[in-house]
Amino acid sequence: MHLTAEELAFRDEVRAFLNDHLDNRLRRGARLTPTVFAEPDIGREWQRILHEKGWFGYCWPQGYGGTGWGPVKQYIFDKECALAHAPELPGLSLKLLGPVLHRFGTEAQKAYYLPRILSGEHYWCQGFSEPSSGSDLASLKTRAIRDGNNWIIDGSKLWTTHAHFADHMFCLARTNPDVKRQAGISFFLIDMRQPGIKVQPILSIAGDHEVNAVFLDGVVVPDSDMVGEEGQGWTIAKSLLENERGGSCHAPVLLATLADLRQQAAQTPDGNGGSLITDVSFSTALARAEFEAQGLEITELRILDDISHGRPAGPQTSLVKLVASNLRQEISRLAVRLHGYAGLQLPHQRPLYGDDAPEPILGEAAQIASANYLNARAWTIFGGSNEVQRTIIARTVLHL
Ligand SMILES: Cc1cc2nc3c(=O)[nH]c(=O)nc-3n(C[C@H](O)[C@H](O)[C@H](O)COP(=O)(O)OP(=O)(O)OC[C@H]3O[C@@H](n4cnc5c(N)ncnc54)[C@H](O)[C@@H]3O)c2cc1C
Repeated sequence: MHLTAEELAFRDEVRAFLNDHLDNRLRRGARLTPTVFAEPDIGREWQRILHEKGWFGYCWPQGYGGTGWGPVKQYIFDKECALAHAPELPGLSLKLLGPVLHRFGTEAQKAYYLPRILSGEHYWCQGFSEPSSGSDLASLKTRAIRDGNNWIIDGSKLWTTHAHFADHMFCLARTNPDVKRQAGISFFLIDMRQPGIKVQPILSIAGDHEVNAVFLDGVVVPDSDMVGEEGQGWTIAKSLLENERGGSCHAPVLLATLADLRQQAAQTPDGNGGSLITDVSFSTALARAEFEAQGLEITELRILDDISHGRPAGPQTSLVKLVASNLRQEISRLAVRLHGYAGLQLPHQRPLYGDDAPEPILGEAAQIASANYLNARAWTIFGGSNEVQRTIIARTVLHL
């Protein structure tokens, strides 16, 4: 990507800031995180540092407390953060809920919630999926019934990422069972610090606790915490899901991870006196992944440009989600292949970082490879599975 002199100066400013403020504990924590989201102890710490600098809202307009950066600056920021191994930021609030409130929120909701998202005072989870409603989200059964100026919510949510850390949940619930399925859904902001909410852990295949089942029993939500109109939840959810699929840039992290892999492969003996980077099968697979990540980068830049010009990201986000998810899995496969037996050092050696963590025996990259591989299986499921993305592409892009 060609950068102007001003953009290069901005890149250097970001690089210098990361150099000064991203300490080894945060970098190491980020490198050794096998789950999609960083644990709050490092994610929120990094958020606090960026917020102090005024950079946490790097993808928000200035009027809402964001930086107002255009697409190129946002991308440079993402890229520098990826190269520096910065922790993943709490994206559910920053990239999913924030834009929803900008577009659909009342002035009171914006004034109350947006500053608390930026400061990290509120930690959010996403209550969309339910035991029988994932791909077919419109079938959701969680019920909201009006009671004076409040709504009473009963039901259950499943696979709720970081609900065990969250104090707030944005949630879809059925407010009218007698109309077309999509038209009976509304969007609520729930304060989880109240009776009637039970969070039950679910351990991933790698042994990590990232997701949960959440049970809602007589939960009270004031009318003022419904976003949009009653029955507008499906429209809002579609806008949010487009952001979930394509609003974040995957290519910076993927390209940075591939660069690390290339370097590690050059240092890994192939058993024949050379290094793994000269192994044709490995280096072909690596080059193919790099090529696809570069293609993804161009598509993501185009989407950022659309968003910054007020054009909706649209169904091309499904293309991004599909390609990025497959690439995440492929890269994790290459890492396991590279690290071989060392990569099978097991996820049950928790915690991987922090004061109580054992010293890595065979190097960090090997230590995390198998946990990354196992957790990466989820990429082709959450945010809409690959099959669902293909259907969207077939219908809305290819008009089949
Ligand atoms: C790690 C992880 C974190 C998650 N975090 C959250 C969260 O924070 N909040 C939240 O609300 N949800 C979350 N989810 C849920 C996620 O969005 C759902 O798992 C996903 O939408 C799939 O739904 P499902 O699990 O019910 O599977 P199902 O919908 O039952 O699908 C099962 C299989 O059938 C296929 N399938 C289903 N319908 C079709 C179709 N029409 N055509 C072709 N194939 C089809 C699917 O592709 C899949 O392979 C998370 C999931 C995971 C794995």
